[in-house]
Amino acid sequence: MKRIEYTEELQRQCADWKAKGLKIGLVPTMGYFHDGHLALMDHARSQCDKLVVTLFVNPTQFGPNEDLDAYPHDLERDSQLAWDHGADLLFAPKPDAMYAPDHATWVEVPELAQNLCGASRPIHFRGVCTVVMKLFMLVQPHVAVFGQKDWQQQAILKRMVRDLNIPVEIQGHPIVREQDGLALSSRNAYLTQEERAHAPFIRKALLAAREQAQQGETNAEAIKKSIRQSLERDIPMGEAEYIEMVDPDNIRPVTAVTNPALIAVAVRLGKARLIDNILIKVD
Ligand code: AMP
Repeated sequence: MKRIEYTEELQRQCADWKAKGLKIGLVPTMGYFHDGHLALMDHARSQCDKLVVTLFVNPTQFGPNEDLDAYPHDLERDSQLAWDHGADLLFAPKPDAMYAPDHATWVEVPELAQNLCGASRPIHFRGVCTVVMKLFMLVQPHVAVFGQKDWQQQAILKRMVRDLNIPVEIQGHPIVREQDGLALSSRNAYLTQEERAHAPFIRKALLAAREQAQQGETNAEAIKKSIRQSLERDIPMGEAEYIEMVDPDNIRPVTAVTNPALIAVAVRLGKARLIDNILIKVD
């Protein structure tokens, strides 16, 4: 596996592979790998000739009071893990290799970025779309794999690809969890022992909500209220930033359970902001 820092080298290597007719898979990440990232790599690896993993804590997707500087990192460990999971290339640029000082071009899908994480992180998805677009231009992958933990991100990127006719197939990968149900996240490293013990109740509340819908409750407000009550009871030190039921494709809030519907939550727990979601299908 090659580890590179500069865009020119990334572009040259990927163009060379493409000229040879090789199928390229891309897994964009911010590093500090856990089994969720590794599952995405395995998934891409299994269907491509060359796997490109990118590791970039993208400054343009962080707001002024967010955790850009505190974001956990361990490049040597990540390099070893990417290598173990079949990466041919790990692209780990410094911010100035990705953004010119006078960078002025942005890609946005504002309509899908109004709710959920976009509501409290107003510039987040603009930063995500712009950096992912840049990675698509550099790598020109056939397939790019994203996790369904960040459902809204995946929906926005799918729309960007469709609207701009980008020749890449976006694949979503199911959420990888700890045994107790907590969705894996690099930010779980921020949790104290006590917070970590309470965090799995997020998943439990979502499972109960799905059960409630499958038992016949159709009112979105009633389901959201049950989730809020469960979270307040089981994670008293946490604070729900949002609890929403939305259409999984266009991320618009729904008032009654649609088939399918997505329930998504963000919970602030100590220094961490944890997100999770569940797709609801009713018979
Ligand atoms: P990040 O490094 O957090 O930006 O995540 C990089 C990619 O890994 C994104 O596509 C995430 O959605 C995905 N990802 C993060 N956590 C998980 C998880 N627990 N299960 C599946 N995919 C994940």
